[in-house]
Amino acid sequence: MSRFEIIVFSMSSHITDSVRFAILNAKCPQCRRGNMFKYKLWNLTKFYKFHILCPVCNLRFDIEPGFFIGAMYISYAMIVIMVGIIWFVLYVIFRDPEFEVYIAVIFSFNLVLLPVLFRYSRVIYLHAFGGVKYNHQFRKDLK
Ligand SMILES: [Zn+2]
Repeated sequence: MSRFEIIVFSMSSHITDSVRFAILNAKCPQCRRGNMFKYKLWNLTKFYKFHILCPVCNLRFDIEPGFFIGAMYISYAMIVIMVGIIWFVLYVIFRDPEFEVYIAVIFSFNLVLLPVLFRYSRVIYLHAFGGVKYNHQFRKDLK
């Protein structure tokens, strides 16, 4: 269990089978145990590589060809929210700096948060629109 998982684990009361835990830790929507991605988020050269099949329940993550193209709508929404927050902070707290500052800060945040946006847009899209039901049978061996 990674440090991030331990932090999330301590934040949630129904850790092992909650959808919140599964999304935060990029787990499979069917078993909520198997990792969707092969490498950790902070592995900047491989953060985008994900398993074709769930290592626990063999669910095919790429449900149909091009399924994850739809994740761009999720990442677009996440970026719009991020830009809104950055605009608000710069405008209100930093008293409306030059236009170039807005561009530089937004570009920097986009670059730094790229792995997070990439991963969570796919995870949220699969959990929300993948049509996969949670199967608690895969949890039996944990109890
Ligand atoms: Zn699974």
